[in-house]
Amino acid sequence: MGTNLVEIEHQYTSGVYGKRPVEIVRGQGATLWDADGRSYIDCMAGHGVANIGHGRTEIAAALAAQAQRLITCPEVVYNDVRARLLQRLAQITPEGLNNFFLCNSGTEAVEGAFKFARLATGRTGIVATLRGFHGRSMGALSATWEKHYREPFAPLIPNVSHMRYNDLTAAANAISEDTAAVIIELIQAEGGVHVAQEEYVQGLAALCRERGALLIIDEIQTGFGRTGTLFACEQYGVQPDILCLAKSLAGGVPMGAVCLGTRVMESGRIGKGAHGSTFGGNPLACAAALATLDILEQEELATRAAELGAYAQQRLRAIQSPLIREVRGRGLLIGIELTKRVQPYLEALCERGVLALPAGANVLRLLPPLVISREQLDQALDIVQEVLRGASEPLQPINAITIHNDGARPEITLLQRMLTIASLSRQESSLAHFLVEQAQQLGLHAYVDEVGNFVASTHAEPTEQAPVVLLGHMDTVPGNIPVRIEDDLLYGRGAVDAKGPLSAFICAVARIAQQSAGLQPIIVVGAVEEEAATSRGARGIIQRYQPSACIIGEPSSSRAVTIGYKGRLLINGCVAQQSSHSAGPARSSNEIAAAFWERVRRHAEEWNQQHAGSSAFAALQPSLRSIQSSHNGLEERTSFTIGYRLPPAFEIPALREQLQRWAYEDDIHIQFSGEEVAYQTTRTIPLARAFIAAIRSTGAQPTFKNKTGTSDMNVVGPHWGQNIVAYGPGDSSLDHTPNEHISLTEYTHAIDVLEHVLHTIAAQRETAL
Ligand SMILES: *Cc1c(COP(=O)(O)O)cnc(C)c1O
Repeated sequence: MGTNLVEIEHQYTSGVYGKRPVEIVRGQGATLWDADGRSYIDCMAGHGVANIGHGRTEIAAALAAQAQRLITCPEVVYNDVRARLLQRLAQITPEGLNNFFLCNSGTEAVEGAFKFARLATGRTGIVATLRGFHGRSMGALSATWEKHYREPFAPLIPNVSHMRYNDLTAAANAISEDTAAVIIELIQAEGGVHVAQEEYVQGLAALCRERGALLIIDEIQTGFGRTGTLFACEQYGVQPDILCLAKSLAGGVPMGAVCLGTRVMESGRIGKGAHGSTFGGNPLACAAALATLDILEQEELATRAAELGAYAQQRLRAIQSPLIREVRGRGLLIGIELTKRVQPYLEALCERGVLALPAGANVLRLLPPLVISREQLDQALDIVQEVLRGASEPLQPINAITIHNDGARPEITLLQRMLTIASLSRQESSLAHFLVEQAQQLGLHAYVDEVGNFVASTHAEPTEQAPVVLLGHMDTVPGNIPVRIEDDLLYGRGAVDAKGPLSAFICAVARIAQQSAGLQPIIVVGAVEEEAATSRGARGIIQRYQPSACIIGEPSSSRAVTIGYKGRLLINGCVAQQSSHSAGPARSSNEIAAAFWERVRRHAEEWNQQHAGSSAFAALQPSLRSIQSSHNGLEERTSFTIGYRLPPAFEIPALREQLQRWAYEDDIHIQFSGEEVAYQTTRTIPLARAFIAAIRSTGAQPTFKNKTGTSDMNVVGPHWGQNIVAYGPGDSSLDHTPNEHISLTEYTHAIDVLEHVLHTIAAQRETAL
């Protein structure tokens, strides 16, 4: 996290918000990114603001164009954009609502609704509902039910009462001759996701008409497609006298609207000067709202919410967990009522990359942008399922768990359970703590270190002797794969890269620790962030140990040993210039970027002809990882990423200089990252010889591999010398694929090989690097 900015915000904010420890800096669709580049699936949608998703270029373009024409224009004069929005609102809102007061937030819409209701009826009373939420200004707050919000600010406005929700008898008792209006939400969102019954809403509308009170429906959260129709009241067949809108109205730009029905307008009491707002109806917000409504219609987001919502609810209802009391909601406004307080589960979700909301003390609320993809929704639901299920059967050490598939060995159970704990980069802490528990049960000394690595040792205290370090990693790439065993194959994300190897390390070291005292200390590290270019976990231990031998936990297959990884350099480039006509002579930003890539490619080709021969490991391998362009009529912009695989002993500074020169010539802005030098050892080091003997002793023929990727071997290799290899069970061609799985025979075979190797090298006390 950009600690500094977090601290600054923390220091200077009012302090009224309970915050989560994430600093969100960017969004696209239903994905949010924090300052470290970690992604989250957004199931908050800014409390229901981001129905059309984040990073919408249509909204950016509408805002940019309107900002250049006119930003501010009070409603005391007419304005073209505002006129178009008012007309549009009349078309899309339920029949009978044809006049609008524009404002800047939900609270203001409710506030306005109360004033209009009092004016129109000449009465003062407001009837609201138990668990209702309508905002936080003094008037709106009076109707909000939650005591913690209200009581510190008493006295609030008089003549506001709260009646039971979904209870017509209570309504009949509450609505009197003095009631100006009844205000309800059709789905109480903040109050716990309670859905109003159709008879209730219709009965309430009839009661209001009968007794001369107005019906205010607060669709601030349920509006704009959220519940499966553009407005939830369409599903109830009722026409409110006043409809309050805000949140998603302008795609994220602050805006609210009070929609006024005929009973209000025909009262003849809404006169000049009755209400007003400086910013209300400003052209900037109006332009954003028009663009938002276009998107909602064109992408049929209400229908999408209905379909995805029904699917999500069905999936959630299928989860077997004593923690879940009830699943409720409409469309993509979903509440999961728990038997416990929701806060820890929200934190667990956040740690696993899902941002969700509470709705009261024990309801988990999912409120994703309506554009969320089915895959992302599935991923979020998988994680919700994992968190809610895991919680009902707290993680237990393997010795204590009942093994369901008869005869399964604890070594397999350990890996299987590791696979069920999601651990994306920077979200490894649940897995780390689980492994500490497991390792302690297995007789190892284990803890989580200051960078978040899992560390387990055969010795309680550091000794004079140099240790043997087994360095695996806990993090995986994204993409959930349901954990299952089919015949000999165990499926799950990380089975190969690299929970299989890490689990094999733990099991082999546990066997050694039980069998023989007096060996060199052996330390297993499950590092964090190996997949994240930063390799923070491995960097955190470089200084801590000076091992006599190191095995890196990466899949090589149980009969092969990896002795080399190529180096890496990433280049992020950006070309931005004023838009030019495509028929003109100037090169476009796309052409400039493409020419740069072409130079990179040709340069590598020539270099390889001179140096590499036909060996892929010795070759300079650039690849164009991504390229995107955009233009808004004023500026065009092309961004690209190039990734290099670098051979051993390659002059990286010279390459960087060359690239910088080319970039400079064409006015391309480039940045380097992820730099690692290649690392290669030989087949004759003691560790490699120990592997040869161990693999042979199992009857197999050992082989050696050089890999074109990078691993933590690149990070520790330059500091820890040459007695390093990478080893682990699994077929590395399954890394990062949706089909990731490991053969259990091979996995247990690798544990045997490792045990043999550790006996050999940990006994060679004199071996130094
Ligand atoms: C969010 C919300 C409000 C308040 O809106 P703000 O824009 O935060 O003032 C009022 N009513 C409901 C139902 C809401 O969800």
